[in-house]
Amino acid sequence: MKLENKTAIITGAGSGIGKATALLFAREGAKIIIADWSDEGKNTAEEIGKNSYFIKTDVSRAKDIDNMAKLCLDKFGKIDILVNNAGIARTFPLHETPEEEWDQTINVNLKGAFLASKKVIPEMIKQGKGKIVNISSIAGLVGFSQASAYCASKGGLISLTREMAVEYAKEKINVNCIAPGIIETAMTKEMLQDTALRKSFEEATPYPRLGQPEDIAYAILYLSSSESDFVTGQVLTADGGWTAK
Ligand code: NAP
Repeated sequence: MKLENKTAIITGAGSGIGKATALLFAREGAKIIIADWSDEGKNTAEEIGKNSYFIKTDVSRAKDIDNMAKLCLDKFGKIDILVNNAGIARTFPLHETPEEEWDQTINVNLKGAFLASKKVIPEMIKQGKGKIVNISSIAGLVGFSQASAYCASKGGLISLTREMAVEYAKEKINVNCIAPGIIETAMTKEMLQDTALRKSFEEATPYPRLGQPEDIAYAILYLSSSESDFVTGQVLTADGGWTAK
C-alpha cells in the first residue's frame, strides 16, 4: 500500500474528484479527514468507515481551517498530506460578473488553499516532511470563455504552488498541482447535459472519452506518495491531451 501509516486532509471530498481521492487513499492505507462544506462529506467518511472523519468546513474561513487541522491532529497525531481540492465554478461574461461572485471564487479556490497550507505547513516542518497537492485546472493554463474568476483563481493556484515548492523544498515539503481537463462530476453535470457543449468538449479532448474522477485521484496519489519525493513545484496536466494540441 502506497500510503500506509499516512494521514491526509482532503478538502471538497464530499463529491467528485475529492471523494474518489478519499476512497483511493483509504484503499492505499491512509487515515483521512474529509473536509467539505456540504454534508455529502459525511457519506464519504461513512463509506470509508474507520480511520476517516468528516468535518464541515468552508475552506475560505480561517476558523474552519483551524478546526479541520485540529481534528486531524487530535485523531491521528500528525498531518502528512494536504489535498487542496475544494472548488467552485460559476460562469458569467466578465463584464457581467458580480463582484461578490469574483470574490467568492477567489476566496474558495485560491485563498482556501493558502489558508489550509498556512495551517498545515508548521506541522509538516515539525515532522520534517509533507505533501501538498493543489487541484488547479487547465483553465489555469489556457483561457476559457465566461470563466474569468475561475481562470484567475486556477492560474493563481499554479503560481502559489511554485512559490510554496521553492519556499519549503528544504523542509522536504513537496508542493505540486494537477490541472485536470473536463472531468465528469457534479461540477460539470449541467454543462455536459447540453449535447452540443458535451460534443465540443469531446472533440477538444484527443483521448476518446472525457475524464473520470478516478483519473485525477491516481494522479493525486502519485504526488502524495513517496514515489514523487523528487518532484516539486510541478503542474501535472491530466486532460486527455486537451492542452497538448
Ligand atoms: P464537485 O463534484 O463539485 O466537488 C467539489 C466539492 O467541494 C463539493 O462537495 C463542494 O460542495 C465542495 N466545496 C465547494 N466549495 C467549498 C468550500 N468553500 N469549502 C469546502 N468545500 C467546498 O467538483 P469536482 O469536479 O470534483 O472539483 C474538484 C476540484 O477539481 C475543484 O477545485 C475544481 O475546480 C477542479 N477541477 C474540476 C474539473 C472538472 O471538470 N470537474 C476540471 C478541472 C478542475 P458543494 O457541491 O456543496 O458546492
